[in-house]
Amino acid sequence: ATPMSIMVGTGRGAQLGVLIKNGAALEQAGHINVLAVDKTGTLTTGKPVLTGVTMLDGANGLDENGLLALAAALEARSEHPLAQALIKAGQERNLPACRVEDVVVAPGMGIEGKVFCAETGRHVAVGNRAFMKEHGLDISESVSGKLAVLAEAGQTPLLLALGSGDEIRLAGILALADAIRPESSSVVARLQQMGVRVVMLTGDNERTARAVAAKVGVDEVAAGLLPAEKADYVRRLQEQGHVVGMVGDGINDAPALALANVGMAVGTGVDVSAEAGDIVLMRGGMEAVLTALALSRATMRNIR
Ligand code: ADP
Ligand code: MG
Repeated sequence: ATPMSIMVGTGRGAQLGVLIKNGAALEQAGHINVLAVDKTGTLTTGKPVLTGVTMLDGANGLDENGLLALAAALEARSEHPLAQALIKAGQERNLPACRVEDVVVAPGMGIEGKVFCAETGRHVAVGNRAFMKEHGLDISESVSGKLAVLAEAGQTPLLLALGSGDEIRLAGILALADAIRPESSSVVARLQQMGVRVVMLTGDNERTARAVAAKVGVDEVAAGLLPAEKADYVRRLQEQGHVVGMVGDGINDAPALALANVGMAVGTGVDVSAEAGDIVLMRGGMEAVLTALALSRATMRNIR
């Protein structure tokens, strides 16, 4: 396309809440034949809520609120949407604030550190199964079953482990539910009608991911991916000759957004220039992806 038509398309996009940071991406968008889509914050609202706490053997005298206070204190150091949900639940229950030390965030896995509630200091880890395995924890069949029931319902279960001395034990399951955005399934259907293959890439567990995918009409799912593995998946699709678009909320999708032929970040509205990707979707959710593709096609037609 000519610089002029790119400029016109970019201007039109801005009016429609599709901010194009890279003119070449505008040209490419209409050629996307595989669209990789992040789950959390993209197909879903990204605002999960705590739906329940299950106590496990390692709780060691603590109750639900005791576990939640530990988790919320740690998560105050994380930007993750799941972290926000736990912080909010702690506030709603008026739980005491606890002091934290030596916090380590493991992207795509969880968070851990020392938490001091009242006078007691404990090592606490909150995260997924893989994170617990990294800590040498065994997931019993009974715990597995509980995780499976939550995941089949599309919820994301997090495990909380408590350490004292050299010993670390599973103390609880924190269940979080993230509502599917109302427009997700219609946009997926529309994309598929246009001949675009839609693939869900998520760091969440396989069962939860499949449950959500089924609800929005996506049948190709890659779950349990770390941020770098999302990018690897995009690279493999490109090696197969596809023009790959990636939509994500930017939080842990930056490597995949950067690698995709067209990276589309669902904007948080805070600082557009800081968003990853070539195109920033200011209206949130998937609807704006259709706008971006239509805009590209219109721009390319205008050359002739
Ligand atoms: P998604 O692709 O769905 O946005 P992420 O890659 O951000 O997911 O995270 C994958 C998984 O890692 C989450 O579902 C959760 O189990 C775990 N996780 C990531 N960050 C945190 C955190 N701050 N606290 C607890 N668990 C986390
Ligand atoms: Mg996300």
